[in-house]
Amino acid sequence: MLNFSRPTEPAGEDSLVWAFHGRNLVSELMGSQGAPIRLGNLQADFEKVKDLTSVGYLEGNPVYACMVETTQIDVMKYTSGNLFGLIGRTSQAHFDVIGRAYQLLNWERDHRHCGRCGTETVLADKGQSRHCEPCRLSVYPRLSPCVIVLVSRGDELLLAAGAGSNRRFYSCLAGFVEPGETCEQAVQREVMEEVGLEVDDIQYHGSQPWPFPGQLMLGFTAKWKSGEINIDPEEIDEALWCKPGNLPPVPPPFSIAGQLINSFLDAQNG
Ligand SMILES: [Zn+2]
Repeated sequence: MLNFSRPTEPAGEDSLVWAFHGRNLVSELMGSQGAPIRLGNLQADFEKVKDLTSVGYLEGNPVYACMVETTQIDVMKYTSGNLFGLIGRTSQAHFDVIGRAYQLLNWERDHRHCGRCGTETVLADKGQSRHCEPCRLSVYPRLSPCVIVLVSRGDELLLAAGAGSNRRFYSCLAGFVEPGETCEQAVQREVMEEVGLEVDDIQYHGSQPWPFPGQLMLGFTAKWKSGEINIDPEEIDEALWCKPGNLPPVPPPFSIAGQLINSFLDAQNG
């Protein structure tokens, strides 16, 4: 389990670090995929180790993240891949740290200077914010709340293939919460915009951090109230009412979409 307090002690060569090369996470071939790497190994094997920053404590040990630069990754020692590819291939504990590490690295890189006056910012508040001294502006890591909703009608559930997804899988509808909007209003608006249906009986289900790059997925269930499916082709390729036992490919159970679908199916069987 990750302790979110950010260590203040500097990393040493034995410190455990999650290293990113662009958007990809680097793993040692000898280790398991998604596992951290000792800082000394990274410093020996990569041309540049930069943006080193603390992430938290994992099982009591301080852990860190960094970016690495190299013209060519040594494929005899390392592999690299995007975060999506790690889903299901690394432990939940490691995936949680990797998601936090990636978000903190991006946040620190994007907020080195104050957005208001351009002065360099400094880490403050035990690493929870970046602060501009002249204008006393504090910037916190940006999370983007996103609703994801399983819409049902009797024993049927609504599944949709996103535009450009090649209909690889069919999932719940999702969208960002707009400024000034409640999550429930976002659910109603997204469902209306994407498939033209009115829903009610909106119930909170649970949440999941989704570090691609900084969403917080808030899961809901809702019941169909009125309307026929009328998709917005800019957002959705196809939307279907599906019966349990006759589903198209759906997202893996690791994802909140998979969990929403499974819990609907369990309730039908129960
Ligand atoms: Zn400023």
